[in-house]
Amino acid sequence: MSQHYDVLIVGAGQAGAQVAGELLDAGYPGTVGIVGAEDIPPYERPPLSKRYLSGEVSADALLFRAADRWAADGAELLLGTEVVEVDPTAHVVTTSGDYQLGYGRLVWAAGGHARALPVPGADLTGVHYVRTLEDADRLKAQLPSAQRAVVIGGGFIGLEAAAAFAKAGMEVTVVEAMDRLLGRATSPMVSEFFAQAHRSHKVDVILGHGVAEITGAEGTVRGVTLSNGREISADLVVVGVGLVPNIEPLVQAGAACTNGVDVDEFGRTALPDVFAAGDCANFANTHTRQARTRLESVQNAVEQGRTVARTILGLEHPAPPIPWFWSNQYDIKFKTMGVLTGYDTSVVRGDPSSGRFSVVYLLDGVVIAVDTLNNVRDYAQAKALINSQALVEPAVVADPAVQLKDLVAKKPAHVA
Ligand SMILES: Cc1cc2nc3c(=O)[nH]c(=O)nc-3n(C[C@H](O)[C@H](O)[C@H](O)COP(=O)(O)OP(=O)(O)OC[C@H]3O[C@@H](n4cnc5c(N)ncnc54)[C@H](O)[C@@H]3O)c2cc1C
Repeated sequence: MSQHYDVLIVGAGQAGAQVAGELLDAGYPGTVGIVGAEDIPPYERPPLSKRYLSGEVSADALLFRAADRWAADGAELLLGTEVVEVDPTAHVVTTSGDYQLGYGRLVWAAGGHARALPVPGADLTGVHYVRTLEDADRLKAQLPSAQRAVVIGGGFIGLEAAAAFAKAGMEVTVVEAMDRLLGRATSPMVSEFFAQAHRSHKVDVILGHGVAEITGAEGTVRGVTLSNGREISADLVVVGVGLVPNIEPLVQAGAACTNGVDVDEFGRTALPDVFAAGDCANFANTHTRQARTRLESVQNAVEQGRTVARTILGLEHPAPPIPWFWSNQYDIKFKTMGVLTGYDTSVVRGDPSSGRFSVVYLLDGVVIAVDTLNNVRDYAQAKALINSQALVEPAVVADPAVQLKDLVAKKPAHVA
């Protein structure tokens, strides 16, 4: 075996960087290695479909630590290297270059890859995904010469890209197979708000139709044919139809994997000394009534990275915080607190036509999540309200003159 690390982190992304950072900052005495398939040190992805795509920030600004800091701080980076096999008995991983690395503890933080669109023409030049800095650079390089963009998939990444294209003066169409945008992330009312916002920026939002084919000439994209036969011309296509967790080596090694790799509240997988965090981890989420949840967000990657590091360091675990998420499109600052995995009542606070409002989601009279649109005050107060598990009256919640903090219960609803 060529090299051994007390903690070996697979995946030099948000969660991997968090685990390493927590260990280094705590003065962890062992050796730490980070293996990353990309050629660059850990960086943040959210700007790739926002300010980086619009040219407002540089690639250097995305790095969590300058390239030379990792080694100086005590972690060895092995970049451009993919782990293809895990031997949990021998505590060894094998890389794509057939190199073997030993570990005391293995942290799987390999994220996911963009789901490919299974239609003819998806491999034409001019068809893009936005997952990595390399993807974003390829897309940016085409922007000056592109005039007509089709975005396939009305999720957050696709809509953020659509907003950037519209702001750049391009003709933009968004095609979403479901009957509303952001169908898995929010309520119909917020979906409609985003559809209106995009249409007001001259984006053609097409709902309820899939894509049958991406058409091209001489290997380059020329358009998109919808499932109803409609043809839309395009010189640039962005596909944003979801993420597939990168877990194959763990599956092969025998880890329990349902939707991603299953982890417990300490970040442990079913394999001895193997942990997981971030987009690839399916965890026991105490904030939902589902047995397991897999979240794709910075907050989740940071929090799970912290949890794994604390387990390795032998530290206590504080109660897991409520998940949150954000997205920026045009002048809309969308922030959500909580997980929307099932509500029976939704309450609108404020006037959506003003662009500043919130939607509060209740289950059995208790607030489980709050979507806020340009509403910093409600966002700031939502966490305490969800945490308190107060029983609330929808009519009271609907009154924007009542602050969410005034509804916080001294005792949760289930305590007599
Ligand atoms: C364009 C874009 C915009 C986003 N916007 C937001 C936002 O506004 N708000 C928000 O909360 N979240 C946002 N996200 C999501 C957020 O960035 C992710 O949830 C977060 O990066 C997950 O961190 P991770 O460490 O699990 O995975 P990643 O950050 O993806 O890191 C995983 C790393 O592992 C590497 N890897 C994979 N397989 C292997 C292997 N076998 N061996 C070695 N290395 C491997 C990958 O190459 C990658 O570098 C966005 C994501 C994207 C792509």
